[in-house]
Amino acid sequence: MFVSKNLDINQKGNLTIGGVDTLELAKKYSTPLYVMDEELIRENCRLFKSSIEKYYNGNGLVCYASKAFSCKQIYRIAKDEGIGVDVVSIGELYTAMQVEFPADKICYHGNNKTAEEITLALNYGVEKIIADNITELELINNIALDLGVTAKVLLRLTPGIDAHTHDFIATGKIDSKFGMAIELGDAMEGIKKALELKNIKLMGVHCHIGSQIFDITPFEHAADVMLEFIARVKNELGYEIEILNLGGGFGIKYTQSDDPKAYDEYMGRVSEVVKKKSDKLNLKLPFIIIEPGRSIVGPAGITLYTIGNVKDIKNIRKYISVDGGMTDNIRYALYESEYDFVIANKASLPKVDTVTVAGRCCESGDLLGKDVKLQSAEAGDILAVCATGAYNYSMSNNYNRVRTPAVVMVSNKGSYIAVKGQTLEDLVRNDI
Ligand SMILES: *Cc1c(COP(=O)(O)O)cnc(C)c1O
Repeated sequence: MFVSKNLDINQKGNLTIGGVDTLELAKKYSTPLYVMDEELIRENCRLFKSSIEKYYNGNGLVCYASKAFSCKQIYRIAKDEGIGVDVVSIGELYTAMQVEFPADKICYHGNNKTAEEITLALNYGVEKIIADNITELELINNIALDLGVTAKVLLRLTPGIDAHTHDFIATGKIDSKFGMAIELGDAMEGIKKALELKNIKLMGVHCHIGSQIFDITPFEHAADVMLEFIARVKNELGYEIEILNLGGGFGIKYTQSDDPKAYDEYMGRVSEVVKKKSDKLNLKLPFIIIEPGRSIVGPAGITLYTIGNVKDIKNIRKYISVDGGMTDNIRYALYESEYDFVIANKASLPKVDTVTVAGRCCESGDLLGKDVKLQSAEAGDILAVCATGAYNYSMSNNYNRVRTPAVVMVSNKGSYIAVKGQTLEDLVRNDI
């Protein structure tokens, strides 16, 4: 009945996450509050990891795409589970470095990396820098030369796959700010350049075709296109690429109508394509990297709010206002993303009402959902928004000088703060 399997209802009729009463969490830590289920995050890491063992002989690496949710604790968990991470900025890299994340398991992404970022990545020994374009390849080469090191690099390619997803989150098409297009010849130019530059060691190729994708077919298609390209590089340039990074983008259940595939089905099907195709093209089996972000943390999180005003504009719309909004969850404002809503203290009651959930920013577009089904709401109720573990905390902002809520984790051992909520003092810390 809930979108995530870690949610349930206890004897009091309250919503629970990982067995912990959300009303008690709201009381203990106050709202708004991000809550993440550590056990489910770990379970998801293991599912992806074991899928590579099961279907591909363990010849690969799961790199959690940490832009979905980034803080020290998530890097500790990833490290502890023996998976890698993907970082996209100096801030994410720096955070991973704080927990001594193994440099050989870090993929460094971004379509316009700065010299500062590349320098830190090389100094830390990051072994998988994903170069987005030729300008960047040259910059990486120059910095590596200055530092007297060889940069291990993968090239980001666009395989020309339209993954039938929301336009803003489709990145494998040619019309994309990311990567070098195979069809346009840019990808081959990039490979030639990488092989020519003295302080670059070309390790592999990368693609990421989009996000929140339910259909496995575009992933199979992408793997197929990438292997064809690897074969062309081998035949034309005599260089065999070792790593095939296939990105992330696996869809999760946000609403009852979403129907994601089991996470290990992806590796099952994609490995088949890779094995068959490699055999046919006479290629060594590549080392495969996958980069799930949303699918690892998304279902593990919820956000708790306290409901304030309930405004019923007769025959038009009923608004309920909460003590957060686009500052802690900007996804509705950005993409009209849908969520499942539950009144945590009325979780066992039927959803008899249709409401529009409004945030507290001075912005009409500050909504968390429009015309959503909900139990009958009153001021003081605790509202839970489900499956907010990905791209919520990591996209939080201080618009209207609203403070970022705390992130609390629940685990077998109870609950603990993973990220403290911002204080008023935090807000003015850098002001002069
Ligand atoms: C965002 C991103 C991912 C993760 O995408 P999800 O949809 O969260 O799984 C993986 N790889 C790259 C390069 C990305 O930009």
